[in-house]
Amino acid sequence: MDIRDQLPVLKENSPRLVLGHIMRAGSISRADIARQTGLHRSTITRIVSALLAEGFVEERGEGDIEFGRKPVMLELVADAVHILGIAIESNTVAGVVTNFKAQITDRMQVPLLDSRREAVMEQVYFVIDSLLNQVRARGFDVGGIGVAMHGIVNSDQGISVFAPAIEWRDEPLVTNIESKYNLPVSMDNNANAMALGEWWFGNGQAVENVLAVKVGSTIGSGIILGGRLFPGTDYSAGEIGHLTVLPGGPRCKCGNFGCLETVASTEAILRRGRDFIKQGEAEGLKAFAKGDPDLLSFEELCEATLAQEPTALRLWEEGAAHLGLALSYTINILNPAKVLIGGDIYPVLDYILPKVRETVEVQVFQPLKSHLRLEPLGLGKDSVTLGAATLLLQDIFELPKSNGWAMG
Ligand SMILES: [Zn+2]
Repeated sequence: MDIRDQLPVLKENSPRLVLGHIMRAGSISRADIARQTGLHRSTITRIVSALLAEGFVEERGEGDIEFGRKPVMLELVADAVHILGIAIESNTVAGVVTNFKAQITDRMQVPLLDSRREAVMEQVYFVIDSLLNQVRARGFDVGGIGVAMHGIVNSDQGISVFAPAIEWRDEPLVTNIESKYNLPVSMDNNANAMALGEWWFGNGQAVENVLAVKVGSTIGSGIILGGRLFPGTDYSAGEIGHLTVLPGGPRCKCGNFGCLETVASTEAILRRGRDFIKQGEAEGLKAFAKGDPDLLSFEELCEATLAQEPTALRLWEEGAAHLGLALSYTINILNPAKVLIGGDIYPVLDYILPKVRETVEVQVFQPLKSHLRLEPLGLGKDSVTLGAATLLLQDIFELPKSNGWAMG
């Protein structure tokens, strides 16, 4: 199913082009759309009339005719379209509702306590049902559902190819959700969805080449090249978590040794913190553990970090040095203008970014540094869920994907 089939006026390219310009500008006149798109004014008038009639856009400002007329401005109607964005992570299912302006109107999150297939799907459906009910209770329909899934995702066929944390292989998730709800569903890998959300609505707007990095219990990234998501031949581009940063280091789940994930994921940092406590080397950090100090939680570690507890700061700094090294390799290859960092580490990013920047400054090849910016994700904690919704929103605002990357 395609969201454009649900909204007939969007089947043609030019209305989407016009909507895209209105969305990016926030508020724009017909004359400026004509200038920016190169379309004839009469064409713009015809398209805008159709979009007004369908309720996608509205006019603002009456245009003062007597005294130097101000043009009538066009804006998107926020309530015209509602999209669900669902993020299936290894231990949570989160969801948001976004309106046509990509503003979040509803949020929810449930833990994944049972990783068996039925239990996971039950939670996914619970989140979708709850959000659908909330939107419909306000009298609106939902246009579609975007899904950001961890692991390897065949985004063209809508298949979760491999999700190691819940042991899924070749799960036809898009077909399953589409047939249950009779709505268009689109799915991509969670880091890719995050990158896409940032490119359309976050800190990556109008930047041609962006690397968006997601650091949590695993580490991945989404790559935007030339304004397009770069999936790679096997939908596996951007697996920076498995770059070797410590040759001969700890064994990784992938079978190799010293992968970035083994030293810089939240799991790795937490494990190291617990080891310090066990060895009696971190009394300050131990004080933040409310339960068994051997089971210091991620939230407790964050609390200690925000309180600037020295061991906690040292743990992040060591992780950040490894992350900075892996990013340097990636930057040297991709030459992005922006590297956006987020994921579970978002709350403590202020304590991680300086060391990452310092390492990148030393390691990255000089000519690649002039335009390079390392920043937090613009969409913060909502980046993956809003990114999931963007999988559908982008179909409304852009031309067909046929001019995108050819798959190998
Ligand atoms: Zn690995």
